[in-house]
Amino acid sequence: SRRKSRRGAKAERRKKAADVIEEVDRAFATPTPMLRDIADAMVEEMERGLRADPHAPIKMLISYVDNLPTGDEHGLFYALDLGGTNFRVIRVQLGGKEKRVVQQYEEVAIPPHLMVGTSIELFDFIAAELERFVATEGDDFYLPEGRQRELGFTFSFPVNQTSISSGTLIKWTKGFSINGTVGDDVVAELSRAMERQGLDMKVTALVNDTVGTLAGGIYDDKDVVAAVILGTGTNAAYVEHANAIPKWNGLLPRSGNMVINMEWGNFKSDKLPHSEYDRALDFESLNPGEQIYEKMISGMYLGEIVRRILLKLAHDASLFGDVVPPKLEHLFALRTPDMSAMHHDTSHDLRFMLSKLKDILGVADISLEARYITLHICDKVAERGARLAAAGIYGILKKLGRDRVPSDGSPKKRTVVAVDGGLFEHYKKFSSCVEATLADLLGKEAASSVVVKMANDGSGIGAALLAASHSQYAIAE
Ligand code: BGC
Ligand code: MG
Repeated sequence: SRRKSRRGAKAERRKKAADVIEEVDRAFATPTPMLRDIADAMVEEMERGLRADPHAPIKMLISYVDNLPTGDEHGLFYALDLGGTNFRVIRVQLGGKEKRVVQQYEEVAIPPHLMVGTSIELFDFIAAELERFVATEGDDFYLPEGRQRELGFTFSFPVNQTSISSGTLIKWTKGFSINGTVGDDVVAELSRAMERQGLDMKVTALVNDTVGTLAGGIYDDKDVVAAVILGTGTNAAYVEHANAIPKWNGLLPRSGNMVINMEWGNFKSDKLPHSEYDRALDFESLNPGEQIYEKMISGMYLGEIVRRILLKLAHDASLFGDVVPPKLEHLFALRTPDMSAMHHDTSHDLRFMLSKLKDILGVADISLEARYITLHICDKVAERGARLAAAGIYGILKKLGRDRVPSDGSPKKRTVVAVDGGLFEHYKKFSSCVEATLADLLGKEAASSVVVKMANDGSGIGAALLAASHSQYAIAE
């Protein structure tokens, strides 16, 4: 009878696991009609943001980029890309129509303590790395005598731009939380740090990574209309008609266009599939109530959502044995790259998943059943994120009228969306789901003229290009 009760306990655990999984399947489902509603809600919020409705969750920030690279840019330019887990310094010798002549970059991991330290420490660190990099400039690069080096600063946080080369931080996102920087001009901060470093350089463009990606994208392919980042965080930028921006009260740009940095990560809507896990994650995050859409989609959070579901399964259904692995209780113990690695395990006994999970949880063994359940959870969470991202892209295409074949018989316009970010680049099941879902939402005919294009490193080069086109020397030459 002891065996019988053991068997009973096992059946009981199975039943509990099945209940949790069923609930997850229900709460994480994103049927196509829901995605269409989300895309429509996105379009509505875009319009509200463009009107400067004070309650609009999507800020639709004016970038002051009204002219995108033409290909005539030339000269030596630097770029600095800050905003994810790494930051990058870049230099490029632009050669006009011959395009980039030489390009070099270095990537540096941001020490975690600097993400939550002081503004001065963070900017000093960046300026010091930049200074080191500038010192390695070789003969392939050429700067006319007496001319100051110029920099495009890609700063991947929401900024209220006051001009192409200045702007104040609205808030930190993605695990950055530094006291006292909100409201400050980030170009002034960086410039002061460069001065302290003895580095003689001028910031001529301050851009969001989406705007940089858009600029870099158009330089390579003139049909790019929007750029999307799917990385640590998520966001999009696109080219809007200046006269469709009620809140723009400057002069009508000669191009008639203005690039908008949507800050779509802060999208919220009752159409979004909020689960108990999302609510708890948000509540315990550094920025509760903020970046709700980002918290369902981006690389900083996907693994954390999976961890929370696994923790529930460990508690309620002893998924990983009689005791809940203490490591599983730690916030962010399961990172999205690990989730991706587990999710891509195609071995019949999930043995790569096994070694990863053992590592992450610090347990001796994990049943095959638990591994398959984990796989299923990874699938649900990644699929939801990818489908929600596709709905957002579809929303932008709708706003631009690029979601359908022209009804007046005019020729179909090729439409390119440039995508950058480590999540999209490395998490194949995620990126293929984004593409398949977008194609599905567009329908066969419209989908045939829409291209989603990986724009690797676009944001850094884009910032250098924008620094070039906004350089005081740009016109003289
Ligand atoms: C930031 C955006 C940025 C995005 C992708 C978000 O958290 O608010 O400014 O573009 O991450 O890096
Ligand atoms: Mg980036």
